[in-house]
Amino acid sequence: MKLHEYQSKDLFAKYGIPIPKGEIATTPEDARRIARDLGRRVVIKSQVLVGGRGKAGGVKLANTPDEAEVIAGQILGMNIKGLTVRKVLVDEAADIAQEIYLGIVLDRLQARAVMMASAAGGMEIEEVARETPDKIIRITIDPFLGLREYQTRQIAYGIGLKREMIKEFNLIAQGLYRCFVDLDASLAEVNPLVITGTGVLQALDGKILIDDNALFRHPDLAALRDVDEEAPSETEARQRGLSYIKLDGEIGCMVNGAGLAMATMDMTQLFGGSPANFLDIGGGAQADKVAAALRIILADSHVKAVLFNIFGGITRCDEVARGIVAAMEEVKPHVPMVARLVGTNEEEGRHILAAAHMQTASTLAEAAQKAVALVKGEGAVVQLPPVEIKPLKTKRVTAKKKLAAKKPAKKTVAKKAAVKKPTARKSVAKKPAAKQSTRR
Ligand code: GDP
Ligand code: MN
Repeated sequence: MKLHEYQSKDLFAKYGIPIPKGEIATTPEDARRIARDLGRRVVIKSQVLVGGRGKAGGVKLANTPDEAEVIAGQILGMNIKGLTVRKVLVDEAADIAQEIYLGIVLDRLQARAVMMASAAGGMEIEEVARETPDKIIRITIDPFLGLREYQTRQIAYGIGLKREMIKEFNLIAQGLYRCFVDLDASLAEVNPLVITGTGVLQALDGKILIDDNALFRHPDLAALRDVDEEAPSETEARQRGLSYIKLDGEIGCMVNGAGLAMATMDMTQLFGGSPANFLDIGGGAQADKVAAALRIILADSHVKAVLFNIFGGITRCDEVARGIVAAMEEVKPHVPMVARLVGTNEEEGRHILAAAHMQTASTLAEAAQKAVALVKGEGAVVQLPPVEIKPLKTKRVTAKKKLAAKKPAKKTVAKKAAVKKPTARKSVAKKPAAKQSTRR
């Protein structure tokens, strides 16, 4: 879950990070009053959950309360990257001498938090990261030792901070780390952390991402969720307890179980299709949940076919089939659908679906092929030859045979051959991005 800038900065302040004084306004009149109360030049900042607001014209300075009112009027209602601005933050304006980047992210590969900093912070940080990555200092934090002072000093020297600022910087970095850990964040970022004209450090912008799976431990943070900023389908999925992630493909997938969902996406891709989503309806899904899932999938205009892949364990296939039929009556799908049901009461389940004129399949490969064919307009009437998925062992066996026939010195060759996997498996394995995102 993403937090707004004002929410992030309020949390930062609780951890001793200095932030500018300010308040949220939802009307231009509010902005005028806040500016008058602050009694000085202010900055009006759109509060939407996307980056790059500055470049999009969503951050502007105002010299007087009158100006604050006019500018707030311009920014409120503005569309920034598809999101409508409903709130602005009116902060006292800072006198900026330098913009620093300071952030903590979870490095999944190392399974540790990493603190990053750059002397070239501000709106161009993405370019810095791309073009001159060596200008970003990275420090890995040991979870047992925490962020050590020598590490924050190393960062401070690395970004060229003056000696007299190091103590203050250390407090900010420590505060950010404690905030990151306490909140179960996957990201806590200050960009820019500015050095003001008088040589004081201040956090002008803030961004926090909270791990959704940890929200049950933070009811106060969960309450900060801004539903206005979510895609309606994501809100519905969350409220129904469905794990749903929208992707860019054309085949909507409805699956019970996260692992099975990933396998389904891989299979779809293997046969030349692309999944429109990751969706795990979970165990024991009833008709209403199936209907909600179907509504969510079909709300995506890119979806050209739906693929159901259900494994009936505790969930009974006939129950799911009834759910699908009930959902079809309610949702009235406009795209073809294929279902593969296996497990408890599969015969009965398939019977129910066939009676509802739905395509059925008995293997995942067959179902994926049919879905791909439907998307490509070939229609599933075309009898597809059964797919042969090569067993993994074939090559290894031949290699061993070769080895047995030849001298033992050739061992390395055999090993290489054994490591080399059949292509089918390879293409299934190379999709880390999609897999990672499905975890959340
Ligand atoms: P972002 O573009 O969404 O990251 O929004 P930021 O809050 O980071 O603001 C973008 C840029 O606006 C910053 O990098 C600053 O250069 C500028 N800015 C933000 N607040 C102030 C301020 O109080 N005074 C001045 N002079 N510039 C500001
Ligand atoms: Mn920023």
